[in-house]
Amino acid sequence: MSAARISPKRRGEESPEPCLVPGCGALSVRHLALAEAQKGLSGLPKKGHRAPLCRDHYREWKKATKPARALDRLGW
Ligand SMILES: [Zn+2]
Repeated sequence: MSAARISPKRRGEESPEPCLVPGCGALSVRHLALAEAQKGLSGLPKKGHRAPLCRDHYREWKKATKPARALDRLGW
């Protein structure tokens, strides 16, 4: 028996890509579809179909795309 070549390819856990936001360069923690990402973040390069985002920019995106909730109108 020879040493098996072990090269586990974990899907979804590949080496982190840098954040797609220009000038950021932080490691990404989330991947969005580029079209989705563009709804909340401007200036994204039109490259490929996925947009890796760092934590900060993901939060920014989330804030920007958060659906307007009616909570405030309920008067709690
Ligand atoms: Zn970023």
